[in-house]
Amino acid sequence: SKTMKTDIEIAQESTLLPIKEIAEKIGLTEDDLDLYGKYKAKISYEKIHSLQSNEDGKLILVTSINPTPAGEGKSTVTVGLSDALQLIGKKVMIALREPSLGPTMGMKGGATGGGYSQVLPMEDINLHFTGDIHAITTANNALAALMDNHIHQGNQLQIDPRRIVWKRCLDLNDRALRQIVIGLGGPGQGVPREDGFDITVASEIMAVLCLANNLQDLKLRLSKMVIAYNYDKQPVTVGDLGVEGSLALLLKDALKPNLVQTIEHTPALVHGGPFANIAHGCNSVMATKTALKLADYVVTESGFGADLGAEKFLDIKARSAGLKPSAVVIVATIRALKMHGGVEKSELTNENVAALEKGLENLKKHVETIKQFGLPFVVAINRFTNDSNSEISLLQSWCDENSIPVALTEVWEKGGQGGIELAAKVLEVMDSHNVTFQPIYELDLSLEEKIRTIIRTVYGGKDVDFSAQALKQLKEFKNFGWDKLPVCMAKTQYSLSDDPGKLGRPRDFIVHVRELKPKLGAGFIVAITGDIMTMPGLPKKPAAYNMDVDEKGKAMGLF
Ligand code: ADP
Repeated sequence: SKTMKTDIEIAQESTLLPIKEIAEKIGLTEDDLDLYGKYKAKISYEKIHSLQSNEDGKLILVTSINPTPAGEGKSTVTVGLSDALQLIGKKVMIALREPSLGPTMGMKGGATGGGYSQVLPMEDINLHFTGDIHAITTANNALAALMDNHIHQGNQLQIDPRRIVWKRCLDLNDRALRQIVIGLGGPGQGVPREDGFDITVASEIMAVLCLANNLQDLKLRLSKMVIAYNYDKQPVTVGDLGVEGSLALLLKDALKPNLVQTIEHTPALVHGGPFANIAHGCNSVMATKTALKLADYVVTESGFGADLGAEKFLDIKARSAGLKPSAVVIVATIRALKMHGGVEKSELTNENVAALEKGLENLKKHVETIKQFGLPFVVAINRFTNDSNSEISLLQSWCDENSIPVALTEVWEKGGQGGIELAAKVLEVMDSHNVTFQPIYELDLSLEEKIRTIIRTVYGGKDVDFSAQALKQLKEFKNFGWDKLPVCMAKTQYSLSDDPGKLGRPRDFIVHVRELKPKLGAGFIVAITGDIMTMPGLPKKPAAYNMDVDEKGKAMGLF
């Protein structure tokens, strides 16, 4: 049966239209495109500038309950909802993140949707795509090389080699590079110091690229990035080193949004992919804003659950870019809700109405959170083949009892046709609700108060506990004038709390903030709770072992 096919088989059986034809649907001509082969294109700056007087379309944000190893299917629902809106005659675009090769070769699977709701060409998008991530890697490492050269050539800025915060990067999972020593071999080989690699998508440059409004803004943000502290413990920035111009030059094409299509030929911008833990985890502002100028409806996604991705989308990205969503879709699966209700992963195929009922408390918290932001929403039940009818009707009637709009969604199996009910509900809540959107905290609160507000309002926790180091940093950052920035929480995605083992809806918990990191180019302060990986490792059996290519260049085993 067709449901047994893998994502890549479905993708490869699909017929792509030339990207020029996709562009025509949204009023773009070939002149407006920089073509990257037949099926991918970047949109030119000239065109983007010329769109500024267009009215904005409506923005729909897709988020989910706390993810579990069972998988939620946010990207799949994002793509399927857009295809459904297109099917019912709406002018719609998608704005999605682009995948990182680290998780692709490791374990997560692709980030191009699944089943009959995918963006294409999935091989390209999951591999090197249009080279944006390579450009970011290069800019990141150019900065590292220029900084080390500055130290080697006399160190006029008095950079303390023991207090360097800028790391090198690579778009792969490679735990052996987390902590390294560089500059060994004598005076001709630079100044020896401890260094390390992050994965490229955790580089501040990725966050900067995703939050920049245009090339000028990109350059300004790059210049503000803190790379080290000097011997007086004062911050040293890219602007002090004077290299923001060359970094911006390296990124000049990477900043242009990438146009692709879904299996059903809905236009999609796939652009930018910052980590959702150390960064804000949404596609670029350039792509979201361009899509809003070109289409009447734009469907976009934020990373992990509503406690992380949606909170950061709304408090960081939307605030900084002046975006205002018209509706939110909260994706839930029966499987994941059962896990929140205490079921083991291996038991998920068995019907378990009691566990489902218990797990609903997780969904309930996220519904409350989205309400607190003043946004209308619909719960999308992403249907898996093993979901039983009694489980589905329990979830539906619970939603009805609580006046929660809900739609059963079968886009993975049926494409846009499986998302018609969801599309109709989303249009309905947008029409019938006043959006009173406001961020959850004001910027002029102290960092401490901002963090506390997120913990209480969004996580449902009791309070925050700062480590001695974090307390010291709160003071320092205030002195440096950094305390009016928004906060980017780095927390486990699995739990509302900072303990990944606490599923469901934990209460009365304390969140422990270990360390703060200034990301002045991105324009936020990262608050780190628990152990946050900025260079992941590979699992015992990496996904890479399933991958292959035939003599014609056809990709195999990319999920
Ligand atoms: P997320 O965006 O939440 O990480 P994705 O949309 O990327 O999730 O989906 C993760 C994986 O789960 C994909 O391989 C996709 O094919 C699969 N998947 C999603 N929805 C379903 C479904 N309803 N039935 C079966 N598999 C699904």
